[in-house]
Amino acid sequence: MAVKQFKAESKRLLDLMIHSIYTHREIFLRELISNASDAIDKLYYKTLTDGDTGLNRDDFFIAIALDKENRTLTVTDNGCGMTKDELENNLGTIAKSGSLNFKNENEQKEDIEIIGQFGVGFYSAFMVSERVTVISRPYGQEEAWRWESEGTEGYTIDPAQRDGHGTTIILNIKPDTQDDNYDEFLEEHTIRSLVKKYSDYIRYPIRMDVQKSRRKEGSKDEYETYTENETLNSMVPIWRKNKNEITEEEYNEFYKAKFMDYENPLRVIHSSTEGTATYNALLFIPARAPFNFYTRDYQKGLQLYSNGVMIMEKCADLLPDYFSFVRGLVDSQDLSLNISREMLQHDRQLKLIEGRLEKKIKSELESMLANEREKYEEFFKSFGLQLKYGIYQDYGMHKDLLQDLLLFYSSSEKKIVTLKEYVSRMKEDQKYIYYACGESVARIEQLPQTEALRDRGYEILFMTDDVDEFAVRVMMKYDDKEFKSVSADDLGLETEEEKKEAAKKVEEHKDMLDFMKDSLDGKVKQVVLSQKLKTHPVCLSTEGAISLEMEKVLNAMPNQEKISAQRVLEINANHPVFQKLCELYEKDKDTLKLYASLLYTQALLIEGVSIEDPLAFSNQICSLMTR
Ligand code: ADP
Repeated sequence: MAVKQFKAESKRLLDLMIHSIYTHREIFLRELISNASDAIDKLYYKTLTDGDTGLNRDDFFIAIALDKENRTLTVTDNGCGMTKDELENNLGTIAKSGSLNFKNENEQKEDIEIIGQFGVGFYSAFMVSERVTVISRPYGQEEAWRWESEGTEGYTIDPAQRDGHGTTIILNIKPDTQDDNYDEFLEEHTIRSLVKKYSDYIRYPIRMDVQKSRRKEGSKDEYETYTENETLNSMVPIWRKNKNEITEEEYNEFYKAKFMDYENPLRVIHSSTEGTATYNALLFIPARAPFNFYTRDYQKGLQLYSNGVMIMEKCADLLPDYFSFVRGLVDSQDLSLNISREMLQHDRQLKLIEGRLEKKIKSELESMLANEREKYEEFFKSFGLQLKYGIYQDYGMHKDLLQDLLLFYSSSEKKIVTLKEYVSRMKEDQKYIYYACGESVARIEQLPQTEALRDRGYEILFMTDDVDEFAVRVMMKYDDKEFKSVSADDLGLETEEEKKEAAKKVEEHKDMLDFMKDSLDGKVKQVVLSQKLKTHPVCLSTEGAISLEMEKVLNAMPNQEKISAQRVLEINANHPVFQKLCELYEKDKDTLKLYASLLYTQALLIEGVSIEDPLAFSNQICSLMTR
């Protein structure tokens, strides 16, 4: 009877679980019941679709038994059961697909957060047990197996006996300690209230033998106790109940139990409709993005029920990508139980529901933005990026749907604002919606390109996410106002008159500017006199479709051909350095070359673009110092 080791990651999580100061130990019961219910669902679904199992809906149940003397709590189901391999794979490893890559940064987080991230699941049993025994027999097989573990030391698997298919989980409840009460989990009333609190909606009866007392027959004051097998749950799915019958706490508990979150949702969307599409939907907007949300591992989707029977765990077709963060379920009587994945994609009914849900989610987000700004900002911190991807995707097809849900940091308000708010504050003579890109707000604050705009009191939107500028380019306009990067070569600030004036000045210095451009050896498309600089001597702008930020983002992607933005070096003609350049052009062209190179490198540094040859830059500075 060799003891097998848990996979390393499982062992760690288990350790956390056992030693955690986790205050919500009681949720272990809801986890076990939910697993039991899932196992029955699987078998019931098979019954409905294969038709030849001979099982009826009424045959299914979950049973809880308490034994105070032996300190055991047993949860039994007659669901699909597990084979030996399944016991090994499902209970020997918790972290599937590497979801347990919590590294140092997470290590400092609280236990509860780490545990919460994975959905506590079966392992939560160890929070209250010194030993856990699982006896399982898969449907359609004779063999049963016993899996047993006392925690991190490992587990054993041996042949066992079991009447009929299903799973029995026996918890040997820990003894009480000075600080912790475990005895309560052997009390009928605790179990009864835990089932009510967390598992009331489970659609199969959760039964327990409970002690009751009654008056003895023929006697006035003598009582006797007897045992009654009671169903503890109401079995009505919460989404089928009336909204006003459900408390906020019930919604929250349901969400946390069902979707394995440890935080309450930010918003609950409960709706039912009749007519062209008849369905109940219960949707939740989580407070925080799951750890793998922005990776390929994340799968979007809603649970899909046909008349109360779950037919799909994650139906992706019900949610557009930009709302992929929404969790929840849809129950519709219009869908056939036998519907396959392929058929679903073409199902008209499903399309109708998707369209409705999309509108509903959007309007809920809008109302949150309008009425609960702080909450919305919290939402946006977690999922704003996904909305921006949504704009960028499909070349802006969903722009109208999403643009009013976006928030960007504002230079003048010093907080995040909507595009509508920006436009409402635009100055009378202001043509464009200005934005500036960079890696952080602090960094963008320093960009010299913003000087002239700020001088005129124009608001600038700061864009710090990689996707921002791509999204803005795809949108092109908001409310008929074009977006304009502060790094664009023409910010549209001057009058025709001023432009002529500027052109004249450029003409005057054309030879020198061309000389500087040539000396930069193809690095810049042009050297020009800047209209946007006030106090700073130099900055970079770009011509054409690709900005420096976009260049950075695109070149950071793997397997992408390197591209480069068409750079324009802008010089401030009102800066003393400019006088110096003019003098050098007359007297000392070699030094002018050196200065051109230095100015260019400075401009790159200001932009946060890495410089090609830092050593050469350093040498140039040294040569100046020793002059
Ligand atoms: P999760 O439920 O999130 O998958 P758990 O750790 O709770 O994670 O359970 C792991 C797996 O073990 C389940 O996905 C299921 O396949 C299997 N399992 C757990 N409990 C049962 C049960 N009572 N009957 C059948 N299979 C079960």
